[in-house]
Amino acid sequence: MSEYKPSNEGVDQPTVSKNFIRQRIDQDLAQGLHGGRVITRFPPEPNGYLHIGHAKSICLNFGIARDYAGECHLRFDDTNPAAEDQEYVESIQDDVRWLGFDWGETTYFASDYFDQIHDMAVTLIRQGDAYVCEVPQENWAEYRGVPSRPGKESPFRHRSIEENLREFEKMKAGEYPEGSRVLRARIDMCSPNIHLRDPAIYRIKTASHHRTGDHWKIYPMYDFTHCLSDAIEEITHSLCTLEFEVHRPLYDWVLEKLQTPARPQQIEFARLSLSYTVMSKRRLLKLVEEGFVESWDDPRMPTISGLRRRGYTPESIRHFCDTIGITKFKGITDISLLEHSLRQDLNQRAVRSMVVMHPLRVVITNYPAGEVEELPAARNPEDPGLGERLVPFSREILIEQDDFMLNPPKKFFRLSPGEEVRLKYAYIIKCHDVITDPASGEVIELRCTYDPDTRSGTGTVNRKVKATIHWVSAGHGFQPTIRIFDRLFLVEKPDEPEEGKSFLDYLNPDSLHTITSAVAERGLKEALPGQYFQFERIGYFVPDLRLSRPGEPVFNRSVALKDSWTKNRD
Ligand code: ATP
Ligand code: MG
Repeated sequence: MSEYKPSNEGVDQPTVSKNFIRQRIDQDLAQGLHGGRVITRFPPEPNGYLHIGHAKSICLNFGIARDYAGECHLRFDDTNPAAEDQEYVESIQDDVRWLGFDWGETTYFASDYFDQIHDMAVTLIRQGDAYVCEVPQENWAEYRGVPSRPGKESPFRHRSIEENLREFEKMKAGEYPEGSRVLRARIDMCSPNIHLRDPAIYRIKTASHHRTGDHWKIYPMYDFTHCLSDAIEEITHSLCTLEFEVHRPLYDWVLEKLQTPARPQQIEFARLSLSYTVMSKRRLLKLVEEGFVESWDDPRMPTISGLRRRGYTPESIRHFCDTIGITKFKGITDISLLEHSLRQDLNQRAVRSMVVMHPLRVVITNYPAGEVEELPAARNPEDPGLGERLVPFSREILIEQDDFMLNPPKKFFRLSPGEEVRLKYAYIIKCHDVITDPASGEVIELRCTYDPDTRSGTGTVNRKVKATIHWVSAGHGFQPTIRIFDRLFLVEKPDEPEEGKSFLDYLNPDSLHTITSAVAERGLKEALPGQYFQFERIGYFVPDLRLSRPGEPVFNRSVALKDSWTKNRD
């Protein structure tokens, strides 16, 4: 087995306080369990793209492997040929790698163990611990019963071992139609735990499997496959979400009955639920298939690939996962915490630039026509090492419409008739004339004067003005397309629709705005996907990795500069 190699220096250091799983591992190591080794796994089913919930599990499993000098296996839990696809296998690998984790040389697939798992099912039959059941699917619920009352024994429960072996062989040979028979573990029809009431462990499936093709007509069920795959790979700690707690007795039963040499322990933790988001792959698939979003990597999706396209950094996601921690407490995490984590990270790394979203023309009447000054501006004040950019200044500039008011209220400190404002990196200007559209009365142009002695950094006069605004030189900017995203859902818990409603009823109809009026600082024209920007005073933006063309970036807003949903944050 290959060793987990911590591949990247960028990956965060262990957190100081230990969660309950790490405490448990410490105890196990102290007692010499599992030969002193720690092997975890991340076991996605390749039936969809990974989402931010999976990131929690990835950071947990790979983080533990890193900190205990152990291994973390990437294992595809591919036991349902109908829903799975190679496209998902590839996207999952890309996403785990992008998050900053490395699983070494070997990628594991449950389907690689189909022969072994089959043999173990035969062993169970030989031991009298499994039988082929022909009760039709529509009657299963009736036989299974409810937790407070015992279930009913299947009439096939007492078949002879020979008959069971023969029947299972015929299932395997494809002699029976899908749904007509299952192999069931023979456990206890009276158990208060429904999962122990002779659960199905093998079923007939005629679909073609993305890796084994048409070789198999029968497929092991998740509960039977998972514990055996863990045992085969000698996983020491099998970490999963709380809904599997009730499956644990079955997990242990299988390993006990088959006397597997390795005995992994299942430990459960609370899954991540995010407000204003759905996380089930079934629902995410529906959003894609029914065209509510463009694709799995639509920047409004909570998928890793969507977050990446939106402009999330791996660091911000890992930091978020560290912040939320690992507990047994089922809660809902505010999405603004994820956004906060991104802002913090981008503040450190994003290159600053000026973009005017809704331009208003300003003519500086005392500035010489045809003259252009190149004014220095920090690329990132948090990181002086990034140096400076040069921003052209000229007689005609553009400012935000919002930064001017004809009849300002008392607390409006930006530009208005007769008032002064500072242009970032440049001069103080004063408005002396306002030109309006005679028909609509709309302000269409301002006439201002500038004070040449007030240039930022080098000016001899530094008058106090109450506001600094961003701007772009009218003749030097360009017009990028900019996409502004809002939350995909209007309610906190779209995952729990009211009676008679679907999660789709809560979709935000205005989750995407495309802005084509903006004018951006010249330097942004060559922006490339993978670079991060702060449009000063507006937010963080990245060139979209699908829609951008060389010299024609299309920007996605990753996150606004301030949280506009939760007041008084930041
Ligand atoms: P879905 O129910 O949407 O299909 P899943 O949980 O079945 O999702 P898997 O591909 O089986 O998806 O998940 C792989 C691993 O990721 C599992 O160990 C699972 O427990 C974990 N996981 C999935 N969703 C979350 C979540 N929201 N928070 C934490 N871990 C998660
Ligand atoms: Mg699953």
